[in-house]
Amino acid sequence: MNGRLLALREKLNGKSLLVTNPRNVAYLTGFTGTFGYALVKGDRAFFLTDFRYLEQAAQQVTGFEVVDAGLALWKKVGELLAGDRLAVEAEHLTCEAFGKLKEALPGVEVTAEQSPLLKLRSIKSGEEVEKIAAAVRLADEAFAYALELVRPGAREKEIALELEFFMRKRGAGSVAFEIIVASGPRSALPHGVAGEKEIEAGEAVVLDLGCVLDGYCSDLTRTVFVGSAGEEERAVYREVLAAQERALAGIRAGMTGKEADALARDYLTEKGYDRNFGHGLGHGLGREVHELPRLSPASEETLQEGNVVTVEPGVYLPGKFGVRIEDVVVIGKDGCRNLTASTKELICL
Ligand code: ZN
Ligand code: ZN
Repeated sequence: MNGRLLALREKLNGKSLLVTNPRNVAYLTGFTGTFGYALVKGDRAFFLTDFRYLEQAAQQVTGFEVVDAGLALWKKVGELLAGDRLAVEAEHLTCEAFGKLKEALPGVEVTAEQSPLLKLRSIKSGEEVEKIAAAVRLADEAFAYALELVRPGAREKEIALELEFFMRKRGAGSVAFEIIVASGPRSALPHGVAGEKEIEAGEAVVLDLGCVLDGYCSDLTRTVFVGSAGEEERAVYREVLAAQERALAGIRAGMTGKEADALARDYLTEKGYDRNFGHGLGHGLGREVHELPRLSPASEETLQEGNVVTVEPGVYLPGKFGVRIEDVVVIGKDGCRNLTASTKELICL
């Protein structure tokens, strides 16, 4: 029995769905190879692959009829559909493939829509939360190791490489995204990936790192200071932390992503930093590092029990420095549970 397939069927309203995003395919079918599409139609479900993966599919895929689509994939989709309405995943299928598919399926009404799997994936099972928690623990360990590496004269890029090696040696399949080590004025760049710069005494250093462990991502940011932190640095750090604590205390199921974002944003606005917090408060994470729901001023999505999201306010003072603090939490009915354990006390190395 494939519970995820049952849940998906309830969302299809009589349309068929072609699942092409490999993360969605893996979630829905269990298949881990690089070529396989799922086609869900009425009460039948097909898994299309080619001869390279027939055996693997037979072992991994449950609830689907495995079909050898050979080299004529779109034609095969047309044969299996026989005149139905078909939705494809708008976030994933390229315009080129969409055009070819429409051409190959003349009698079928093909529409590109947000995949219903993105919403289903955003609600994590207990087992998935455990996997994310393990990835978060490894990121916590890497941060503790980073504290030994950050010192005057160390290059940002070397630290990033050391952290990647650290996590991969301990079982991570890869980093979840390019590690950010941004020092001094570069810390004011919200996405300052590690560069050739050497760290200097007196600088702020933003470390944003995460790994993929057993298929699930982590995402952790801390800001540390080298030598000492100035008055302004300490003030900004205090306010970013206070904003995050407000959000962590207030986020719960039933509020919108916009309301969650406002918990931190309104506070920072009150303190005069409204123009210095230029990104959303957080994002869902799981098999991908950016998933639904989004916590941002534009997000009308309702937070649900079992969502796993980051909470990462930041204040960036261009040309000077930036501070961001990021944890990963599981949303519950009456609040949220923090999976991140790294200290948030102001650290001067
Ligand atoms: Zn991050
Ligand atoms: Zn993040």
